[in-house]
Amino acid sequence: MQEEIEEQNKYALITGGSRGIGRAICIQLAKDSKYRILINYRSNKNAAEETLREVVLAGGQGELLPFDVVDAESVNTSLDQWQENHKDAIIEVIVNNAGITRDGLFMWMKPEDWNEVINTSLNGFFNVTNRLIKQLLINKYGRIINMVSLSGVKGTAGQANYSAAKGAVIAATKALAQEVAKRNVTVNAVAPGFIATDLTSDLDEKELKKMIPANRFGTSGEVAHLVSFLASEKSSYITGEIININGGIYS
Ligand code: NDP
Repeated sequence: MQEEIEEQNKYALITGGSRGIGRAICIQLAKDSKYRILINYRSNKNAAEETLREVVLAGGQGELLPFDVVDAESVNTSLDQWQENHKDAIIEVIVNNAGITRDGLFMWMKPEDWNEVINTSLNGFFNVTNRLIKQLLINKYGRIINMVSLSGVKGTAGQANYSAAKGAVIAATKALAQEVAKRNVTVNAVAPGFIATDLTSDLDEKELKKMIPANRFGTSGEVAHLVSFLASEKSSYITGEIININGGIYS
């Protein structure tokens, strides 16, 4: 009985959980884990509500938690309020998934396109993780999973901002993993190649798949299975890793 109550208070927070890869992660965690799902989004409430419906259909429980990962004040206020209403709750899994692209050649790149992308992926990771990590360390257990990208691993022309943001999160993943490993908190990054979502809907899949050994874009569900494993107890000795999931395009 006590165990049951404790389990009901454990949450997994997925930033950018309203659509795409984030939604698939919410649903997969609802299927695979004991966690209640905290679905973060920035502006698309309808999409977030659809994710919640799917979480429930998958047999899980969830809540919406809107905030802008870029805005530290918004992150802190939302999480403080949430914690106030959930006194015994523990966010044990953090999936830093929110991300955007503002592609363009570096020479023509506007400062706002540089800053928005860095702010979302890199500062978003900082704002959310910095706010929550103390609780993981006190509880001596946690899983932090950062959604990075093939672009952060190898650099992609036309995406200097995005490559820099994701590359920086990769470095932070490795550094943070070493700081917190003794306390059973693991920190890993998942680096997808081309995955069919809103983010890639403008790309020419027919043309691009010629350079992908698997000859297709990946699905959000495929990424979600990997995240679900990293979020589980089974991944306990994996930390500081950057795991590619890209149909063989780069290793
Ligand atoms: P989508 O564009 O489909 O979804 C993006 C999600 O992020 C939405 O839920 C959106 O919320 C949320 N979001 C964006 N900005 C913010 C913010 N400032 N605060 C809170 N939430 C925000 O993207 P994908 O699912 O394709 O991508 C998810 C992650 O995977 C990103 O980090 C991306 O960089 C990475 N990735 C994706 C690849 C791909 O091919 N799709 C390849 C490699 C990495 P809302 O609905 O409210 O707008």
